[in-house]
Amino acid sequence: MSERTLTGTGATPRANVGTVVWYRPESALDDAEDVPTVDPDERSAEHERFEAARDQAREELEAERDQTAERVGEEEASVFDAHIQFLDDPQIDDGVASEIDDGTPAEYAVRDAFAGPIEQFEGMDDRMAERADDLRDVRDRLVRLLTDGERVDLSALPEGAVVLAERLTPSDTAQLDPDRVAGFATVTGGRTSHAAIFARSLALPAVVGVGPDLESIEEGATVIVDGETGELVVDPSQERLDALDTGPDVEVTHERVETTDGREIEVAANVGRSVELEGAVEQGADGIGLYRTEFLFLDREEPPSEEEQYEAYVEALEAFPEGRVVVRTLDIGGDKQIPYLDLPEEENPFLGERGIRRSLAPDADLFETQLRALLRAAADADGGTLSVMFPLVSTVDELEAALDAVDEVAADLDDEGVAYTVPELGVMVETPGAVFMADEFAARVDFLSIGTNDLAQYVMAAARENEHVAHLHDPLHPPVLRAIARSVEAAHDNDAWIGMCGEMAGSPELTELLVGLGLDELSMSAVTIPAVKENVSTLDHERATDVAARALNAVTRGDVTNIIEDQ
Ligand code: PEP
Ligand code: MG
Repeated sequence: MSERTLTGTGATPRANVGTVVWYRPESALDDAEDVPTVDPDERSAEHERFEAARDQAREELEAERDQTAERVGEEEASVFDAHIQFLDDPQIDDGVASEIDDGTPAEYAVRDAFAGPIEQFEGMDDRMAERADDLRDVRDRLVRLLTDGERVDLSALPEGAVVLAERLTPSDTAQLDPDRVAGFATVTGGRTSHAAIFARSLALPAVVGVGPDLESIEEGATVIVDGETGELVVDPSQERLDALDTGPDVEVTHERVETTDGREIEVAANVGRSVELEGAVEQGADGIGLYRTEFLFLDREEPPSEEEQYEAYVEALEAFPEGRVVVRTLDIGGDKQIPYLDLPEEENPFLGERGIRRSLAPDADLFETQLRALLRAAADADGGTLSVMFPLVSTVDELEAALDAVDEVAADLDDEGVAYTVPELGVMVETPGAVFMADEFAARVDFLSIGTNDLAQYVMAAARENEHVAHLHDPLHPPVLRAIARSVEAAHDNDAWIGMCGEMAGSPELTELLVGLGLDELSMSAVTIPAVKENVSTLDHERATDVAARALNAVTRGDVTNIIEDQ
């Protein structure tokens, strides 16, 4: 078989070879697939399977209807009533029953029984055509429920698996075992999608945003995933396999680094789970610059208790006895969904209930539990200095409410006679609102940390998951650079330190620009720490300041790139 190459966006400077396992969570049924025939004596079980799926669909829809009625209004909730009615539609019901009687498996019976009514509605005027969408929704829900049991179990993949998927959500990636998986590739996604971030934090080779061509790779094929070049080589030649370079070899330094003219830059790691701490230490991180605590909440049935969280935070602090550990309070919503928390289905989740917005309102209890665990861990850990920061803040009111919550938790612990320490407090700068108010924020906290993944998405109005606007979702666009510069100035004018924990901080080719912009700390996936430390220790701060000044004067992204490449 001759080799062929597909290209996407490389997510990690690592490469590996492995065997393809397709992950299709929604089980969109493949039209071309040969439909198996169910034996006559198993058909009644097939009817029961359909009934069970229908009951479950009804339960889900009723819960979604009630939630929508409460949060939005009765009128908006009525769409779910329509869906519930479709579940009992006699024409569809008869269609499914007779298909199953003829030996069709239930999920295919559903697909076929819905096809006629969908087509009828599609041919009608606009209002009725919308009904076709409702029917598709109901059909897909039933198919999902019927095929659920056949999902690939991501936590138990064969050794050396290369996972291919349309997309991987944060909870999907949280199940991947980095010791078994050789890498992954997805149809959608960009460099800052959470799947890509996860890959980097575990040094897992990954290519995202390959596009629909990915579907042409068959289950079981041998593939090289090159996260450096963004290439997927299918059926690689022996020569190619022999030449496979799995990643750059930069010497690790465990010392703190400074520029040639003596400006110290803290180089820290971004982590999401305890298993990543070891890698961060091994790669020479000075500390943790971003602990994404939402990962403690994923891939389980209920939120972690105060005690579980306390232990996780103590473990992180003790991994860096001489360092600083910046823990970010829960940042869910957007693409980070947690089934047991019943997050609302939102039209535009990145502009919805996310981060601090949830912590101050529907998830206030979780917020309180998390703050208790953090303040206790800060007091009890043997070494390590805790800092706590809040995500997706855009108003001073939100920040003050979060700071008040910390005070209240401290007062409660005091009353209870429980040991606690109020840590250094900070806020993420990742919305335009935060940039414009950065001076007011910095006057109220100890530090700011710039989240360029979200900042670029909101400044450029380009979703971080959408590969079609990846060229806009790029922190080198002048408006994003200017937002960064403005935040740095606001922090320093108010005696606060400022770091960057978005993916931009982990691009070694941008280290000079970022140091020149005045950042005090850079936090990134562990895999890029050695290269960034090396770059810091060979650059001159004064020269870097000059590069940054020129980049800030540039008016196009192209000009910015030219300035960086000319160095
Ligand atoms: C960011 O937005 O840059 C960030 C670091 O937070 P997250 O990627 O977790 O949204
Ligand atoms: Mg963010």
